[in-house]
Amino acid sequence: MRRLCVGGPNRIARELEAREIPCFHEEKLARYTTIRIGGPAELLVRPRTVEELSAVLDLARAEDVPVRVLGAGSNVLVSDAGVRGIVLHTRALDEIRFEEGGLVQAGAGVHFPTLVRKATAKGLRGLEAGVGIPGSLGGVLTMNAGAYQFSIGPLVHEVVAVSLSRGPLTLAGDAIDFRYRASSFGRDLIVAHVRLVLAEDEPRAVRADMDKHMRFRKETQPVGVKSSGCIFKNPEGASAGKLLDELGLKGFRLGEARISEVHANFIVHDGAARASEILDLIDIVRTRVRKELSVELETEIMTWN
Ligand SMILES: Cc1cc2nc3c(=O)[nH]c(=O)nc-3n(C[C@H](O)[C@H](O)[C@H](O)COP(=O)(O)OP(=O)(O)OC[C@H]3O[C@@H](n4cnc5c(N)ncnc54)[C@H](O)[C@@H]3O)c2cc1C
Repeated sequence: MRRLCVGGPNRIARELEAREIPCFHEEKLARYTTIRIGGPAELLVRPRTVEELSAVLDLARAEDVPVRVLGAGSNVLVSDAGVRGIVLHTRALDEIRFEEGGLVQAGAGVHFPTLVRKATAKGLRGLEAGVGIPGSLGGVLTMNAGAYQFSIGPLVHEVVAVSLSRGPLTLAGDAIDFRYRASSFGRDLIVAHVRLVLAEDEPRAVRADMDKHMRFRKETQPVGVKSSGCIFKNPEGASAGKLLDELGLKGFRLGEARISEVHANFIVHDGAARASEILDLIDIVRTRVRKELSVELETEIMTWN
């Protein structure tokens, strides 16, 4: 049975235990990532409120312990050795509240496809093209995830975040910097709650659009497999997937890891692959693209070690 901070190895664990904030020692992160790879977190902490989140950050700062944030783990590759310090898992920040006028308030840990489906059922438009993004809402904001015509930035009314140095703060949507697969958020500014503003429409019409996007995704991307989504960002004016395809890399395999036959920018984990194999495969592919196409690819996935 997993220990809930009892007999924790350090002061932070004991303090968390005293405050009854859920935390777990040496918790294997493979089960929290969509690629199902990754060693343990020294301390996985799962705050349920903004206050608990702030308390964890205060303790980490006081003890000078590194903190990482984990949402749905659909864009991270954790090393086989795992990570030291605290991994803040947002899953328990999972409340969704629908308000008047198309406003929706949701916690950072809400599973994004669930939010899309719930909003769609209420006839709220704006998120439907992102239904296939398997992240948490906090991860979608932090990565500024996008798909087809979907982009979260314009829908953000305000965000309650917790800053490592300044504590909880509320940011207006237009004060947030959203760039290609990056934003104002990250390790030092953690998304806790988000208020989105969506357009009101007929549930049936929104549902039809959502289904259309999901069908298209299933035709063009590997779905239902262990992966971390797109490995590389698209270089200026090009598609990383198309470049890899041009080099005939679809199906290229290294041990239990392979380039997807459906979409060349996805690496699929077939069984017992290690993070090191995925990294080697990324390296091989990147080197070939550099040598043969003179293009430098930048990874979209975050590597934790
Ligand atoms: C099958 C598949 C399809 C995908 N399709 C798309 C797509 O169409 N478009 C797209 O853009 N991406 C796509 N992705 C990638 C991924 O789903 C997105 O990047 C998503 O936004 C990541 O969210 P997450 O909660 O899983 O983040 P995680 O992987 O848990 O974390 C990603 C980064 O965000 C940080 N982070 C997470 N939550 C917070 C928070 N609350 N506050 C501060 N920092 C935080 C983490 O520290 C980490 O640096 C896909 C992935 C998969 C596996």
